[in-house]
Formats: sequence, C-alpha cells, structure tokens
Amino acid sequence: MKFYYCEGCGKRLTEEDLGEGLGRDKQVKGIYCSDCAYAVSTVAFQKTPEMDEAILEAEERQQQAKADREEVERVQKPPPSPPLSPRTKMMLIAAAGVLLLVAGICIGVVLTYRPPPPPAPAPAAR
Ligand SMILES: [Zn+2]
Repeated sequence: MKFYYCEGCGKRLTEEDLGEGLGRDKQVKGIYCSDCAYAVSTVAFQKTPEMDEAILEAEERQQQAKADREEVERVQKPPPSPPLSPRTKMMLIAAAGVLLLVAGICIGVVLTYRPPPPPAPAPAAR
C-alpha cells in the first residue's frame, strides 16, 4: 500500500483512495484529495464567465493605459525628422568646419593677444 499526501491540504491519501476517486493524481502538479483537486481544476483550468469578464476588463484597462501612454509619448516627442539628404549632410559638415575655423581663429587671437605694455615712465628729469 502506497501513501500520498495531498499537495493542497496535506491530507493523507492511499492508493485505494486514488483508485476510488477520492483523490486525483494530477501528474505534474502532484496528488490532490478530491476537495483540493476540485479547487485546483476550478482555479487553474476552468474560466468562469465572471473571470472572463474580469479578464476582459483588465485587458481593456491595460489597453486604455497603453493608449494614454502612447498619446503622452507622441505629444512629448517631436516627430521623427526625415533622414538627412547627402546635400544637407555636406552643408552641415561645411558649417561645422566653418564654425571650428572661426572658433580656432578666435582662440588664436585671444591667446596671442597681449595688451600693449603700459607706457614706460618718462625718465626722471635731472
Ligand atoms: Zn487536499
């Protein structure tokens, strides 16, 4: 005689009980007594109309929330800019080059500029 324990409530079941339908061998999920087997199949395997409704409602809420999020993102994000044409890229590079050049000249001027020395004091008259 083999003994099993209900995975749900821990009730002891024998091979005989299982044979008489007092327990359920749920293979992967383990052995359940008839009470727990009923609960397990009700909760895990059967959907009642109320559950369907609840699930639908939850899905609707999720979709609504998603739509709201997308709306917010759409408003906050600028529209994607069209890919730059080669001509535009060239112009941007040229502009950047000119800017760098101007900046370099400015920096060069600033670095090399020295204020004129103050006029030397006139030699003291004797
Ligand atoms: Zn049980």
